[in-house]
Amino acid sequence: MSALIDSHCHIDFPQFDADRESILGRCRQKGMSAILVPGVSRSQWARMSATLDQFNDAERFPRLLPAYGLHPCFMGEHEIDHLTNLETQLDTGAVAVGEIGLDTFHGEATYDAQVKLFKAQLAIAAERSLPVIIHSRKTQDQVIKLIRDQGFKSGGIMHAFSGSLQQAQQAVEQGFLIGFGGAATYDRANRLRRILKALPREAIVFETDAPDIPPCFDREHPNSPLNLFRIVEILAEVREDPVEDLLACSTKNVLELLNIAV
Ligand SMILES: [Zn+2]
Repeated sequence: MSALIDSHCHIDFPQFDADRESILGRCRQKGMSAILVPGVSRSQWARMSATLDQFNDAERFPRLLPAYGLHPCFMGEHEIDHLTNLETQLDTGAVAVGEIGLDTFHGEATYDAQVKLFKAQLAIAAERSLPVIIHSRKTQDQVIKLIRDQGFKSGGIMHAFSGSLQQAQQAVEQGFLIGFGGAATYDRANRLRRILKALPREAIVFETDAPDIPPCFDREHPNSPLNLFRIVEILAEVREDPVEDLLACSTKNVLELLNIAV
């Protein structure tokens, strides 16, 4: 079995304080080689980075790969000089800028400020040739347009993708991978499953977004990266694709995007 990568998991969040070590140990034993851990705000980066250092042991745990960014759902916390702080933080060994993007799920009050922040962070990523981890809710067209208008070429991941097939294909054309996880395990997720089936393997990566987006087989608990093994089995079945081939390809996709080996 190839090694599995969780391409989006908030393993640093306090929800995991009690059992982080046991979860990460079991992930490693089951064959997870790496977890991409996205940043959300300046105050969270330092805590996140300290947690990742604590579990920096490739024998016992998956490799924890940090991304740093200013998340559009935390607009109340961000200040303009946090962009300068972001540049310094990226120099500590980030594999990507994220998560960044646009979100109008709770209304449009902060939309203009979100756009400004997103553009600035795309520019920072471009300067460093780093890929981006995109968070987009109800804003897929705007996100693609900004990426295109800005001539952003370092690619990235459309995390927890929730757009249309056409939007997914436009993202792939711009050098992006499409992130699938717990949401597509539900039978009722017809549109998402159609997209999962229509895309080539080379465009697909897997993620839990833990502790969010619990899969259909464990809705009662916070989501965990341990669930990714079963999530991938279910999504391989949906695609009628051999699980080993799909898993191996998704791992290769992540490693190529991040330009690393694990
Ligand atoms: Zn996230």
